[in-house]
Amino acid sequence: MVNILDFNLEDLNIWMKQNGEKEFRAKQVINWIYNKIWDFNKMSNLPKSTREKLKSFFYIGIPEVVEIYESSGDDTKKFLYKYRDGSVIECVEMDYNYGNSICVSTQVGCRMGCKFCASTIGGVIRNLTAGEIIAQILCTESITHKKISNVVLMGSGEPLDNYENTIKFLDIINKDYGLNIGHRHITLSTCGIVPKIYELADLNLQITLAISLHASSDEERRKTMPIANKYSIEEIIDSCKYYINKTNRRITFEYALVKNINDSIESAKKLAKLLQSLLCHVNLIPVNQVTESDLKKPAKENIKKFSNILTELGINNTIRREMGSDINAACGQLRRNYMNNIEERC
Ligand code: SAH
Repeated sequence: MVNILDFNLEDLNIWMKQNGEKEFRAKQVINWIYNKIWDFNKMSNLPKSTREKLKSFFYIGIPEVVEIYESSGDDTKKFLYKYRDGSVIECVEMDYNYGNSICVSTQVGCRMGCKFCASTIGGVIRNLTAGEIIAQILCTESITHKKISNVVLMGSGEPLDNYENTIKFLDIINKDYGLNIGHRHITLSTCGIVPKIYELADLNLQITLAISLHASSDEERRKTMPIANKYSIEEIIDSCKYYINKTNRRITFEYALVKNINDSIESAKKLAKLLQSLLCHVNLIPVNQVTESDLKKPAKENIKKFSNILTELGINNTIRREMGSDINAACGQLRRNYMNNIEERC
């Protein structure tokens, strides 16, 4: 069986033709699905024979809701979803004044091995397909009854390690017949898979690229991010310059501040030097402490000091508000807890 959410309109047009159906049926089916009718029997403008054909070939891959966690302090909700093969992923919905955002996962687990991140602890299980990533948005909207207007690819997984599916996902959610989410409302976060940043730049999508830099030198970066052994910061910054030239988009650099690792005044100065004259913004994130790791967040005043140095040296930056930390909203923590509980029960 094939997940119909993996099909864009063109794919479904072709399928209809190959199966002796009129092409316009494809648009009808897609309209039902994106209007959240997830039962072929309820697609009342299709002949019964077409519905039967669809049913014998496709399933509509909406995941099962395992758990929903609501944060008490802010408008953050976390969802644990299970796909047909039993894979569990998490996604987070955040309500802001300017709209509702969702943080989606692109892989089950992750193979990048960042020391501060819970998603990577068990390695990668598999890639998610485009339709499986879309399903996170559809399912969340159907539960909250709120339209998602912003998407961040910052859940479990490395989107550029699942490149084809991620690009197809970005394409479908942008379409009128899909979720009609403008590319400028989408942020793709990567630990810096350099060749893929060049490929992405060549597509000239208007999405925001966020780079998980988290360090001011290669040596410092290697302490927490294995990918630093493969690509240097210089190579990443070169690829970012190419991205900016191609797309004219400002890049976001994420910098999770970890006590005694990357939070010194020296690090702040080095970071400012690296990013000098680049069209960018730095997002400072007090590291979210993960049970399995001993990395600690710096004291508030040190975070502020770090931010001030960047500002003084002309680097745009903000300290990220910690949303939903009472519900383990940090990457992968929820899935991790869930898997741990299952293991304990077995
Ligand atoms: N693989 C992608 C996207 C997923 S992670 C990437 O590396 O960018 C989304 C962001 O959360 C990344 O910047 C990641 O480094 C950061 N992150 C992961 N665990 C964290 C933690 N415990 N505290 C703070 N930030 C964390």
